[in-house]
Amino acid sequence: MPGKVLLRLDPGAVRSLASHLGGGTILVSATNGKTTTTRLLSGALRGAGRDVVTNAAGANLLSGVATALAEAAPTAGSQASGVFEVDEAALPGVAEAVRPTALLLMNLFRDQLDRHGELEAIAARWSGMLHAQQPAPRLIVCGDDPLLASLPAAGDDVIWFGIDDPSVGSAALSHASDSTSCRACGSALEYRNAWIGHIGDWRCPDCGLARPRPDVAVVDAGLDGGRGSRPLIRTPGGEVRLHLRLPGLHNVLNATGALAAATALGVPADVAATAISAVPAAFGRAEAVSVGDRDLMVLLAKNPAGANENVRTMMLDDGEHDLLVALNDRIADGRDISWIWDVDWEPLLPRVRRLTATGERAHELALRFRYGGLPADRLHVEPDPATALDAALSALPAGGVLEVLPTYTAMHEIRAHLVARGAAGEFWDAA
Ligand SMILES: [Zn+2]
Repeated sequence: MPGKVLLRLDPGAVRSLASHLGGGTILVSATNGKTTTTRLLSGALRGAGRDVVTNAAGANLLSGVATALAEAAPTAGSQASGVFEVDEAALPGVAEAVRPTALLLMNLFRDQLDRHGELEAIAARWSGMLHAQQPAPRLIVCGDDPLLASLPAAGDDVIWFGIDDPSVGSAALSHASDSTSCRACGSALEYRNAWIGHIGDWRCPDCGLARPRPDVAVVDAGLDGGRGSRPLIRTPGGEVRLHLRLPGLHNVLNATGALAAATALGVPADVAATAISAVPAAFGRAEAVSVGDRDLMVLLAKNPAGANENVRTMMLDDGEHDLLVALNDRIADGRDISWIWDVDWEPLLPRVRRLTATGERAHELALRFRYGGLPADRLHVEPDPATALDAALSALPAGGVLEVLPTYTAMHEIRAHLVARGAAGEFWDAA
């Protein structure tokens, strides 16, 4: 709200306030992982003794950035840095208003087609944005995403980051993959290794366009089940080891982007690595919560690529799984729920002990799991999320962890219910 008032009173105020941030301003955008990456990058800068102005998770439109700036009210001579998570569709407008010194571009996956349009349309708008910025911002880009690799122009100041660990790759793309054709010539891309969806070590067999060699690269992903990971990362200043409290390869890549951006902003790699390792998970991004004597872990699942990574992360742990999957179809979730059919649930389903489908579209979700082969006696349908959560928790075996996969608005409903039950940690507000 303060940001909306500020924008109404003085449309130039955002640029004016941002220009006082002597430590520079970086915008972080992606379909998946922008909240986590923004937290990790903010932690890296704070670890180097810098003041950071940042926006709250979810407040990632221009009004949210304006609110953060209005509340911090930097004045001339401030040495603070601005680190703002920005919605991918809003990024060109926010960049025009803020004039960032750097952009961290993480990934583009299919998500909320009814709101954002096709990936190509977003990529074209991002490309126009890059060429409109004067002076040109420093770019930190995941070149393993072919859509992003094609955006910078020759001569742009780019730091590429990505993965160079074949042990976590697969030779075939998952069928949920987006963006598998060359942006230059339209041919089908070839993959030596696919890491996450269409993100991988790619090349075009016809025009020779290929993944740029990453300047900052994961050389050993160091995945350690649902607990976290210990990736080894090559940087221009030497190798550093992270000790992340976040599980899964997607979070390794998020942390690598944060590390690349922090070093681009002048933080020594070892200082950034220590600080990033100390950052806890945000609500809904794999943090564990205790409810009485039961534990649950919330993994936001709002599109095929994100849900597939959650499935893959859960598969890292042996044994049976208790799941609560929550599907809403409001504007913030995307009205079109057909994406649930593109998620590769099948490898996980034989290891599911009990699955509860909940949310406004619980019945479509249940149908999806029945088609995936989940026996009816392991499937429970309860559209009310509070009732579903209580039932799933009370059915959980001793020592088990309930894995909760909600869409965006369902995540907030579940959080509200947990807060009402007194299970809230105050750090959730800082998510
Ligand atoms: Zn090509």
